[in-house]
Amino acid sequence: MTAKCTLCDDGGWVCEDHPGRPWEGARACSCGAAGAPCPWCNVPAEGETPRMLDGFKTEVDKYGWKQPRKRTGLSFGGWVG
Ligand SMILES: [Zn+2]
Ligand SMILES: [Zn+2]
Repeated sequence: MTAKCTLCDDGGWVCEDHPGRPWEGARACSCGAAGAPCPWCNVPAEGETPRMLDGFKTEVDKYGWKQPRKRTGLSFGGWVG
């Protein structure tokens, strides 16, 4: 594949605290912060959910999607949108 996103290493997610580092993969940020959708390749359209990582379920309710966290799975504190 040549269309590799160098921001998130094609994971679709970056570190929330360090948006220049991927959240998954060999170069993943290890600070433990929550993930944020990659602003280059994983920007959800209005009313849509961002692409989720393997192992994380997208949970969507009337409040929108929930942000996953590396340590605890799905977070109930990080609302976006
Ligand atoms: Zn980080
Ligand atoms: Zn990306």
